[in-house]
Amino acid sequence: MPTDEKNNYDDKVLTFDEIDEGFSIKEAIVEAKRCLNCPKPLCRTGCPIENEIPNFIQELAKGNFGGASSVIARRSNLPAICGRVCPREKQCEASCVLNKKGQGIKIGKLERFIADFDAEMDISPLIKESGTKGRVAIIGSGPAGLTVAGDLAKLSFEVTVFDDQSEPGGVLMYGIPEFRLNKEVVRREIRRIERLGVVFRTNLLVGQDITVDEMFQEGFDAVFIGTGTALPKRLEIPGNGLSGVIQAMYFLRMAMLANSGEVNSLEVPIHDGDKVIVVGAGNVAMDAARTALRVGAAQVTVVYRGTEQRMTALKSEYEEAKQEGVQFKWHRSPIRYIGTCRLEGLECEYMENAQEGSVRGTGQIEQLPANKVIIAIGQRPAARIISTTSGIEVNEQGYVITKVRPYGMTTRRGIFAGGDVVHEPATVVLAMKEAKKVAEGIVQYIEAKKLMEECADS
Ligand SMILES: Cc1cc2nc3c(=O)[nH]c(=O)nc-3n(C[C@H](O)[C@H](O)[C@H](O)COP(=O)(O)OP(=O)(O)OC[C@H]3O[C@@H](n4cnc5c(N)ncnc54)[C@H](O)[C@@H]3O)c2cc1C
Ligand code: SF4
Repeated sequence: MPTDEKNNYDDKVLTFDEIDEGFSIKEAIVEAKRCLNCPKPLCRTGCPIENEIPNFIQELAKGNFGGASSVIARRSNLPAICGRVCPREKQCEASCVLNKKGQGIKIGKLERFIADFDAEMDISPLIKESGTKGRVAIIGSGPAGLTVAGDLAKLSFEVTVFDDQSEPGGVLMYGIPEFRLNKEVVRREIRRIERLGVVFRTNLLVGQDITVDEMFQEGFDAVFIGTGTALPKRLEIPGNGLSGVIQAMYFLRMAMLANSGEVNSLEVPIHDGDKVIVVGAGNVAMDAARTALRVGAAQVTVVYRGTEQRMTALKSEYEEAKQEGVQFKWHRSPIRYIGTCRLEGLECEYMENAQEGSVRGTGQIEQLPANKVIIAIGQRPAARIISTTSGIEVNEQGYVITKVRPYGMTTRRGIFAGGDVVHEPATVVLAMKEAKKVAEGIVQYIEAKKLMEECADS
């Protein structure tokens, strides 16, 4: 029989305030001074967007915060966000040589410190080339769309971002919970991109309110699709339609809207005293479980068919979830929702390890009581844009197929794509990394297009 994690609930009141408070000026400088400024900086190799890490840390150590901010801005449009939510423990911080002494540099917190300081004091200028090189429409304002928008605006393209939500930011705004990423920080980063001249058109569902073909008719030279993975995967087991089965992304979005006063807290589908099960063990499951505790759930249990070693959530997220009182049941695979009209629980089969990382059922059953079950087993792209635009090919799972030259162009000329809608749900910085390369592809495409138009006119 599998062993389960049991946690002691304490009386600590969990709030949506950001948990990590960041560095003070003194702490940031002391930390920066520890950096060895390695000639071959492994930290930079570990960063997917190759942030100039030692360079900005050296400026920070000298107290030149504006210089540090300008160095970071050369590679990133979203430093305050990356400094908070990047999986640093697997990237830059994991690569720092000082880890050998157990004292790796806290790079994320330094990046966050600089970005926050700059936002408060407005110390670094926004650098933008003059003139207009072309017009680009961007669909989706998550990290992929924001990165393409920022990079192209700096190179003096006219950029308009379309998004179906009431505020831009994608998962940064409506997915990652407030206690990990303060929404004012997201708004601040977006305002900075706006100051580069980017126009945001929200509450517009592309494929319904406007089509991609209409965007070209409006005079855009290229269109970028960065629409992420909006469709949650369902758990196809008996009892699916029972009231009380909730998708994690819907729950997280409603919790965010209630926090910002846009909906009544009664509309959030978890209430005081609820007994909640979360199915899945990735970062979305951790966020949903921790958010459920914050909106008043009396008990939250994560159920996963694999083991602790195989879960995809970051170790730090898992540890924090445990500390906050989330319980974990490993080796349980849901087979049926229990209840007649309303949900009363989840029936699971005990699993055991099989060959090469897989698990198999044992035939033993456990019934877990719950009046709410949150499903966090993944998402996939919606087909709205593809079904209303001819010529864009997708793979079997619905992910958009793109080319290497020009980088990121789909099978339809002038339409590009990047981020999760191409590369499957990943991370903020991986969406940014790809988006940076796609921005270069768009520049090449528009320059070639303009040249052809000039030749045709002459
Ligand atoms: C709950 C959660 C927590 C996460 N935590 C982390 C983390 O801590 N660290 C990390 O690095 N990564 C994390 N991730 C992953 C990361 O957020 C994503 O990989 C990233 O946001 C993908 O960026 P994107 O720009 O491709 O898409 P998204 O952020 O999904 O943005 C897509 C945008 O397009 C809009 N859109 C979709 N269709 C249309 C349409 N037809 N018309 C107009 N607009 C449209 C959507 O509303 C959305 O605003 C998390 C993801 C989730 C869901
Ligand atoms: S690897 Fe560590 S010590 Fe070396 S430059 Fe990077 S942050 Fe500094």
